[in-house]
Amino acid sequence: MKTTSDKYGSLWSRDELVLALYLYCQIPFSKTKANNKDVISLAMILKRTPSSVARKLGNFGAFDPGLAKRGISGLAHVSKVDKEIWDKYSGNWDRLVADSESILQRANAVSLVAQEEHGDLSMNLSLPSGPSAAAREVETRLHQTFFRRSVLASYEVSCCVRRLNIAALLVASHIIPWSVREETRADPRNGLCMCSLHDRAFDRGLLGIDSALRIAISRTALRSRCAFAEIALASFNGEQVRMPKRFAPKAEYLTWHYDHVYEH
Ligand SMILES: [Zn+2]
Repeated sequence: MKTTSDKYGSLWSRDELVLALYLYCQIPFSKTKANNKDVISLAMILKRTPSSVARKLGNFGAFDPGLAKRGISGLAHVSKVDKEIWDKYSGNWDRLVADSESILQRANAVSLVAQEEHGDLSMNLSLPSGPSAAAREVETRLHQTFFRRSVLASYEVSCCVRRLNIAALLVASHIIPWSVREETRADPRNGLCMCSLHDRAFDRGLLGIDSALRIAISRTALRSRCAFAEIALASFNGEQVRMPKRFAPKAEYLTWHYDHVYEH
């Protein structure tokens, strides 16, 4: 297998880099540290030190346009192969999930997305082979889990309308619903981190985001005379939506939602 060396002398195979990118997407950039439990899990799988894995995650930050804009450039010592892996998968997230999971399976390792904190997503991740219904179901759950984790990580686990930060109340909301466009189902840029109430309002067209990234509250919601609707919805009308630290939502996706779902 073709390998690449990093500054620290150890060789990283392409498979290892794919797993590092997979994990990079799923933890907030500020937490890509050697003491992070997911970093430690990957280090055990790769038989590397947690600090070596943390440095590699830092390298991927160098390619992340969202971070570059904020002046966070990741670590300087990136290799050509790191860049190739980034280019191959950014924009092809379904493939990243599928390839990572099959690498893990070949290594008899537990899925990196199985360690979801909230219980209901713990799953048996032995991917059944072939196009069976069971295989399809496992694949679907892996995509959903990757999507949720990567969107929550991008927004540092808080609602993009208002900074509610209780993880159990947060949802990774699809901008273009899965049922409309399956190929964007795992794309972190098709996601917004919202609390359950704002997610529902967004899904039902009571809340939209315009091309200037302002929150728009529909007439139906504005007409409500209820004090809670005033606080939870109407008061945000016209405010800027909060952008994530990475994987900013694509303008094309937001426009689609504003034109097709938001009720104006
Ligand atoms: Zn909210």
